[in-house]
Amino acid sequence: MLPDADLTIHTAPPVESFEVGASRVDAPSSLAHLVSDDARDRLAHSHGQAFRDVVRALSGKLPHIPDLVVRPSSEAEVVQVLDWCSDANVAVVPFGGGSSVVGGVEPRVGDGYAGVVSLDLTSMDRVLAVDRTSGAALVQAGVLGPHLEEQLRPQGYTLRFFPQSFEFSSLGGWLATRAGGHFATRLTHIDDLTESLRVITPSGAVETRRLPGSGAGPSPDRLFLGSEGTLGVITEAWVRIQERPRWRAGASVGFADYDAGVQAVRALSQSGLHPANCRLLDPVEALINAGSPTAVLVLGFESADHPLHAWMERALELCLDHGGIPSGPPRYTDSADDRSARTGPSDTWRSAFLRMPYQRDALAAQGMIVETFETACTWDRFAALRAAVDDAARDAMRQVGATGVVTCRFTHVYPDGPAPYFGVYAAGEWGKTVEQWDEIKQAVSEALIANGGTITHHHAVGRDHRPWYDRQRPDLFAAALQAGKAVLDPAGILNPGALVDPLRRA
Ligand SMILES: Cc1cc2nc3c(=O)[nH]c(=O)nc-3n(C[C@H](O)[C@H](O)[C@H](O)COP(=O)(O)OP(=O)(O)OC[C@H]3O[C@@H](n4cnc5c(N)ncnc54)[C@H](O)[C@@H]3O)c2cc1C
Repeated sequence: MLPDADLTIHTAPPVESFEVGASRVDAPSSLAHLVSDDARDRLAHSHGQAFRDVVRALSGKLPHIPDLVVRPSSEAEVVQVLDWCSDANVAVVPFGGGSSVVGGVEPRVGDGYAGVVSLDLTSMDRVLAVDRTSGAALVQAGVLGPHLEEQLRPQGYTLRFFPQSFEFSSLGGWLATRAGGHFATRLTHIDDLTESLRVITPSGAVETRRLPGSGAGPSPDRLFLGSEGTLGVITEAWVRIQERPRWRAGASVGFADYDAGVQAVRALSQSGLHPANCRLLDPVEALINAGSPTAVLVLGFESADHPLHAWMERALELCLDHGGIPSGPPRYTDSADDRSARTGPSDTWRSAFLRMPYQRDALAAQGMIVETFETACTWDRFAALRAAVDDAARDAMRQVGATGVVTCRFTHVYPDGPAPYFGVYAAGEWGKTVEQWDEIKQAVSEALIANGGTITHHHAVGRDHRPWYDRQRPDLFAAALQAGKAVLDPAGILNPGALVDPLRRA
């Protein structure tokens, strides 16, 4: 049965109507100047930006609110906060931009703590040094995307790391979640742009050595990349910067047969051409977000060093081999200014991509279920995985009485497999959309794990992916990670509930 099409626009209730309660903890007077117990501030730090966060905020239901928000502006202050919290059994949830979509910053820490502090790192937001010889910059972790680029631009550089949440996420958040940026191939994750890290743990500071590469045992950077605030607070990183690209090439290619499009992308991913953009939109995604009646491949190359005609021409040959039809001639730009006319499906998709977060929030306020989930798998498994996910999502939508569509695009591609990104757009029932989504999410997560996918390619584990992450990771690896956490965070105060349980509370 179709739900009633109730498109009432729901707005967030006033701050006073949330049950915030008095803070359960008092910070030492030496930290007083960093601390806020303001209700609005605490509410703003009580959730991330997933669909379920947006709807719960609109419904006035934010059950886990930090006792205090603390804003250090130096490493010494981070040390002081961690010392106090370790002694006083206060949980600490590091907070960058707060754009987590997996419950990573929600202070859902269980009952074993005297209180919870949200450690907002955005006051640590400066580029401290640029090494022009090596092409690297030392950057404080609390900087948000636009402010980072503003500081690099006058020096002629860019990090060129553009997740969809670029505007409201931080370098530290990217590092702590192993975020994925706009490069569809090769430099897909922030890991690839990381030279070294500095991390403050309750047991002391860890600084890794700046190296372009190293074979000296397991990489210490790798311990902290993706640690999601559970092992320490990332305060600084040397990141690999680039000159701003001068040459760009862009094209969009339609595929009447989606599976042929998949084969074309596989060929591209194995060709060594390394397109910066290689996003295959399935027919539903293409219709909704690019206005195209067939599957579309959005293809792009960029370089600060050389024109890209040969790369694009070879890529289009590969597409033609698989039945692809370009929507028009490729567009080439050869200056740092790329404000050339944008007209094709790839441009329509690009502007839809930038609008998506805002559209999602607007639709969520009208009782729609609009959310995404993402994974990666090897090419040999992709067809079965996509079919299983599609079936699971449609089945779950039927079960919960939501009518809608499931879309799929590739965000990143590797020689051995794609990172498919799924969207659900469904008419839900206001007041129940969180529960409806939770059931859909449960079903698709089971399908991902059962079909050889990862529970996340770049959104991280947080709290929401724990049940599937715990099954995906080898048990002995989990034990080793817990042992490492016990050394770095002996009191088990750092982001309890996310990623890995502290040993003493497991
Ligand atoms: C609309 C939208 C689009 C998105 N698009 C993308 C995308 O394209 N690619 C992608 O990868 N993700 C995407 N995300 C998810 C999210 O933006 C990323 O996970 C991002 O890396 C989080 O950064 P943040 O600064 O907001 O971190 P937060 O949300 O503040 O924190 C995320 C996690 O990192 C920890 N953390 C934060 N800062 C530190 C630190 N300095 N030290 C230690 N731990 C820390 C937190 O405790 C938490 O566990 C999107 C989210 C939204 C809402």
